[in-house]
Amino acid sequence: MDGTGCIFCRIASGQMAADIVAEDDLVVAFRDLSAQAPTHILLIPRQHLRSAAELTEEHGPMLGRLFATAARLALDEGVARDGFRVVTNSGPAAGQSVDHLHFHLLGGRSFSWPPG
Ligand code: AMP
Repeated sequence: MDGTGCIFCRIASGQMAADIVAEDDLVVAFRDLSAQAPTHILLIPRQHLRSAAELTEEHGPMLGRLFATAARLALDEGVARDGFRVVTNSGPAAGQSVDHLHFHLLGGRSFSWPPG
């Protein structure tokens, strides 16, 4: 799939507005519209991948950039010291609602484990 009609592709290309907090040639990070924590940022690859199920070793550079961006944003948001969570939902059983790979960066409160 090429991402036609994908809302996260539209955000990454600037066709749809979002509260973007970081972006470069590989990844884009923007605030979740429906924040589940004081800090709730979505990190996506510019490349359209439907979910983590499509990841291969060739995506290593993009993932390295994405997680380094998440770590920097956690520092910027002031949640790195107390702790934060980075999570991705893949497929319907995990509750994925947007079919473009994305990682949630959540912080600013305590989280339970295991997740629901
Ligand atoms: P998931 O349920 O793991 O697929 O996460 C999708 C997330 O995207 C949800 O937390 C939504 O609130 C968020 N979301 C959907 N549309 C937008 C949008 N246009 N801008 C920002 N966040 C969005």
